[in-house]
Amino acid sequence: MRVLTALGGNAILQRGQRGTVAEQRENVQRAVDQLVRMIAAGHQVVVTHGNGPQVGAILIQNELGSVSVPSMPMDICDAESEGFIGYMLCQSFQNTLLARGITGKDPACILTRVEVDPSDPAFAHPTKPVGPFSTEERARARMAETKETWVDDAGRGWRRVVPSPDPQAIVERDVIVALIEKGFTVIASGGGGIPVIRKPDGMYEGVEAVIDKDLAGHCLAEAVHADLFIILTDVPKVAVHYNTPDQRWLDRVTLLEMEAFEREGHFKAGSMGPKVKAALRFVRGGGERAVIASLDEALEALEGRAGTQIVGG
Ligand code: ADP
Ligand code: MG
Repeated sequence: MRVLTALGGNAILQRGQRGTVAEQRENVQRAVDQLVRMIAAGHQVVVTHGNGPQVGAILIQNELGSVSVPSMPMDICDAESEGFIGYMLCQSFQNTLLARGITGKDPACILTRVEVDPSDPAFAHPTKPVGPFSTEERARARMAETKETWVDDAGRGWRRVVPSPDPQAIVERDVIVALIEKGFTVIASGGGGIPVIRKPDGMYEGVEAVIDKDLAGHCLAEAVHADLFIILTDVPKVAVHYNTPDQRWLDRVTLLEMEAFEREGHFKAGSMGPKVKAALRFVRGGGERAVIASLDEALEALEGRAGTQIVGG
């Protein structure tokens, strides 16, 4: 089976960790071990991943380093984080495949641009907090000097917010498909990809935004005609009434049932919400099955024995 697998932020950096390269390497290895189990079972794995903590760190480095070197815009920071995580994944993959004697599945990381619609309403309402916390004074000064939007983040300080537009298309689609068809293990659309728009003259241009990695993962799943879309995260399943005494984990649900739960508001925006939305889009678009599961149960989820299995109907 061709499986599009989306790795959550915890696959690279866990809550509470500082973010040293040693920590990130160790987490990446754990994730790769799971993905290689799928490859060893005969599946073709296409990988995408988040970049929240990493792009956050790059933005802090930019901010603090701006006295000596120029700060980079958001699209460049997205590209930097995609390259850095892609490198760690490739290295880990290659070594794990070598150690297990698996050939012909070499990893290839594609720095991916994802097209967004310049008239997406998200551009008028930036919602996604990025980068370091700051004082109100500094936030107001930034807003006066630049086009940036800053908001008071629940009393924790002021933070920049950027638009999170809906992904429309994977620019590198043909390159990715060609590599997959040769049998390579492609890592693409990391961190939701680098957001670009198409100008009226047809040319591409990077924009200051971030794309949700699960929604971009769905775009990639469609682009590569994946049979299965698996979203791996840090909970074993999706729940209704999450974190309340009525909490109930979902095993196997139909598209219609899940749509009803979504309307009832069981899935939090910014965490489980986009995963469910992406999974539903995949099944609605004709995909046979989408799964949201824990990273440690990747192969079991693929085989239908773990996670929340969302099926048509
Ligand atoms: P990732 O880095 O994998 O994208 P997120 O933190 O964005 O992870 O989303 C996973 C988190 O979603 C879980 O850790 C859990 O706390 C939260 N969550 C919110 N609503 C639900 C729900 N209904 N069922 C399960 N988990 C939920
Ligand atoms: Mg997330």
